[in-house]
Amino acid sequence: MKEFTCIVCPRSCRVKVREEDGELAFDGHQCKRGETYAREEYTNPVRILTSTVALSHGPLPLLPVRTARPVPKGMLEKCMEEINSVVVEAPVRVGQVIVRDLASTGVDLVATRSIGRWSQGRC
Ligand code: SF4
Repeated sequence: MKEFTCIVCPRSCRVKVREEDGELAFDGHQCKRGETYAREEYTNPVRILTSTVALSHGPLPLLPVRTARPVPKGMLEKCMEEINSVVVEAPVRVGQVIVRDLASTGVDLVATRSIGRWSQGRC
């Protein structure tokens, strides 16, 4: 049995998931959306990953980034390994793809802000 706090609405129901004879059984949810949320958390939990990558030729040392879509929770460590090896050169525009197919997840890593190029004390 596993228990999840449903984050779909502010009620924060505690949803229990049990597996019986290959079938999932749910308890504690107050609506169908909670069952859907708990099923996904139980079978294939995913997360949007937010982080930073090193930035060169910019006024800041780091560029904030996030995955364009959620990635499997089990892949977060591999994604971070790849993110930690990235150095991107300014200028960068918000939404620009920084890494295609991050850690072979099929999901791109994108910039979450625009940063200009550092030039003679200005950017
Ligand atoms: S189960 Fe339904 S009512 Fe409860 S937190 Fe989730 S969405 Fe809200």
